[in-house]
Amino acid sequence: MNDAYLRLIDRLKHRYLIGSVQGLLGWDEQVNLPPDSADFRAEQMATIAGLEHAAASDPQIGTLLAELGGAFADLDQDCQVVVREARQDFDRVTKLPAEFVEEKARHSSAAYHAWTKARTDREFAPYAPFIEKHLELAKREAEYQGWGDRPYDYAIDLHDPGFSAEVIDQLFAELKMGLIPLVKKIEAAAAANKTVSPLHGFPVDAQRSFLEEVTAKLGFDYGRGRIDVSPHPFCEGSGADVRMTTRFQEDDPLDSLFSAIHEAGHGLYEQGLPLADHATALGQHAGMAMHESQSRMWENQVSRSRAFWRHFESRFREFFGAQLDGVSSDQLYREINAVRPTLIRVDSDEVHYNLHIILRFELEKKLFSGELAVKDLPEAWNDSCEEILGCRPTHDGEGVLQDVHWSGGAFGYFPSYCLGNMIAAQNWDAVRREMPDLESDFERGKFSRLLNWLRLNIHQQGKSRPALERVEIVTKAPLSPRSLLAYLEERYGSLYN
Ligand SMILES: [Zn+2]
Repeated sequence: MNDAYLRLIDRLKHRYLIGSVQGLLGWDEQVNLPPDSADFRAEQMATIAGLEHAAASDPQIGTLLAELGGAFADLDQDCQVVVREARQDFDRVTKLPAEFVEEKARHSSAAYHAWTKARTDREFAPYAPFIEKHLELAKREAEYQGWGDRPYDYAIDLHDPGFSAEVIDQLFAELKMGLIPLVKKIEAAAAANKTVSPLHGFPVDAQRSFLEEVTAKLGFDYGRGRIDVSPHPFCEGSGADVRMTTRFQEDDPLDSLFSAIHEAGHGLYEQGLPLADHATALGQHAGMAMHESQSRMWENQVSRSRAFWRHFESRFREFFGAQLDGVSSDQLYREINAVRPTLIRVDSDEVHYNLHIILRFELEKKLFSGELAVKDLPEAWNDSCEEILGCRPTHDGEGVLQDVHWSGGAFGYFPSYCLGNMIAAQNWDAVRREMPDLESDFERGKFSRLLNWLRLNIHQQGKSRPALERVEIVTKAPLSPRSLLAYLEERYGSLYN
């Protein structure tokens, strides 16, 4: 093996390990941090962020990459992937002046606090200058990277390499056209069968035991991961040590369960990436949309299916016999797939969810093009909400102030959620073409055939190709919203005729 290549891997591993410590501290901050230790943690985080930045911009990496660039054609395919991606990372890190990175970090912290206050006060105006500044920073960052003429594309590319506003625009336009009439039909049918949740008083300890049993059966390896509690569920870490979270409410056992299954989907992807290659592109995920496609497939296509509940319902009733007394199988299944429109994205059912994302994407595009001024965001948000979702927020807390993302300058992130839904549905079609009897596995509590298929086709491929190419290889068709529309029609059509 080329000596320069081995030394490069060594440097990348150093950076990856520091990054993993940073991730662990971040997880701990949201799960375990004592209330008065936040200032100390902020200092720890800033220190480790500085170390990570130094490791990522280590001049030795630049020297080694220059050396390897001269011999690029002699490297085998895997090594080429590693060097190509390391080159891009190194360029991106080193093109940003240190003062800019610090300014952005400082501003994000201030903007986060401004956002929490604005959301509590339901008042957008004092928060607006923070978004304006983030927008300015995002445009400056794109300029440093040579994307000055396409700053929104740069923001998207950071999360989902290979995607652009134009590509997403086409996908979303087609999705929106099919989805709005479908949603109207489902809403009309759901209104005719209007129900309130019959699920109440589920002890948290039993909820926890049940969801751990379910996620372990799906294939999540608790020897290399764990699940804890945080206000907003998330998944952190790599396959060597995955930290997931969920949240519990006694009257909503399905929220903790499906949040846990969703995060376990992310965890299964991380655990399936080649363990020996976590420090390089060969062992890293192929973008947020691909990541989200994994969590969504386990959460929706698999775990909200009839077949899944034919297996797990009896076990669920063993845990919660008293609470489920008088709740029929049909009622339970309807509750699992309940369609109830809401103004809040994170509370949305899977039918409405994509509309929440389309709304955000359209607003972000206008913010970056200058067509929309930040101060006019609340009005624009409410108007789009009415147009796309058919309801209007009564205050900004349930409108433009509901999401944390923009306070951290995370523009271009929202589309990943919806693209993930599209990829999940298209992969789901592909796997069922190969294994038409796949769902009969679920009825027997078996998920290994599906997991192995995902391992082989997606997880073990790391970041060797951009997600759009990977989807085309795996499903033998370019990414399109057609599978997602067909899936929604099939599942909710059968529920609501
Ligand atoms: Zn997710």
